[in-house]
Amino acid sequence: MKTTLSFLLISLVTLTVFPFGSSAAGLESYDAIKAKYAGAQKVRILVVPGHDDEFFGTSFNGVREADVNLELAKTIRDYLVHDPNIEVTLARDEQGYNPNFLAYFNENKDLIRKTVASQAAAIKLAMTNGEIIVDSQVPHANAVDQVAQQLYGLNSWTDHENFDLVLHVHFNDYGSRYSDKEGKYSGYSIYVPDQKLLNATTSKYFGDAIGKRLMTTLYKSDQTSEKKEADLYGAIPDFYLIAMGAYKTTQAPRALVEYSYIYEPQLQSPFTLVTAHMMARATASGIQDFLAGKKVSTAKNIEYGWDKTLGVSKVADQDVLMLQYGLSELGFYPAKGLTRASCPFSGIFGTCTKKAVMAFQASRGLSQTGGVGPGTRKALNTIFR
Ligand SMILES: [Zn+2]
Repeated sequence: MKTTLSFLLISLVTLTVFPFGSSAAGLESYDAIKAKYAGAQKVRILVVPGHDDEFFGTSFNGVREADVNLELAKTIRDYLVHDPNIEVTLARDEQGYNPNFLAYFNENKDLIRKTVASQAAAIKLAMTNGEIIVDSQVPHANAVDQVAQQLYGLNSWTDHENFDLVLHVHFNDYGSRYSDKEGKYSGYSIYVPDQKLLNATTSKYFGDAIGKRLMTTLYKSDQTSEKKEADLYGAIPDFYLIAMGAYKTTQAPRALVEYSYIYEPQLQSPFTLVTAHMMARATASGIQDFLAGKKVSTAKNIEYGWDKTLGVSKVADQDVLMLQYGLSELGFYPAKGLTRASCPFSGIFGTCTKKAVMAFQASRGLSQTGGVGPGTRKALNTIFR
């Protein structure tokens, strides 16, 4: 769940207005970032686990968004720590917000508020005058003022610290869902700054690179407006999200990923962690692909070994979930003739999984039993272990 701008901010007196595009000269181009990476300079990435202990985002069955966001963000960092040309900073961890951010924010709170207010006033005027025309947008919930201020603070800190890239980590939800009931949408979305905000072009490449990795395993969001606005890889331009630099309040290239809807079965206990790890691994690969300007490795989104025989069962099992992920990445899940709606990532071995296993077996010249015995396990383990 992400939060959009708060109109409370623009009720202040008019202040010195930053001319539009005045900061464009300082924008880091995609070529500059690639050159930095290729030249063995450290590319500095800020990963922002969405929400915090106080405002924890959405939740379902005891799974709190803020906690999964943090787990996922830490795992992305753990994958990227092996890359000598990348330095990852987390905006918060179990101890709370990054102390450097807090110090900066507390010292500059008033200036940030005033700057945002003046930028907002100028942009709103330009919209009223028709100088800025905003295309159709995915609707979002408004942030409470405290949250909005912190997000604008992060935008400001991002530029102050010269981060090269910013990644916001979230899980999705929607307003009219009954809190204890599974919702009707599924899939990931990647928000990137609208073309009228700063660094939209580089951000789009960044979002697409992550999407290319995520989509090999996961599905893109089927929520109506997200589906309408998303590109081939799931990237959606957004004008109003603070994290995207609403009112041109920040300039580092950025993306905000809603990895799935919070109630989807693959995110529920006991699967939360293995799913977050798969998503983190895919994201880390996508970031490296972006920085290298190409697909840099054949690494799969999961690394897993299967040791026991699997077949049709009504009991959810981690081996089956990982099998579904693996078969999806290989292009066999959902099997031909079946849909994503009837084939969720559930960990339950039903018709979808059986048919996908049979297709995999056929592709490997194995006998098509539809169950995972020693021969099929060996073939899977050769690919994923
Ligand atoms: Zn969120």
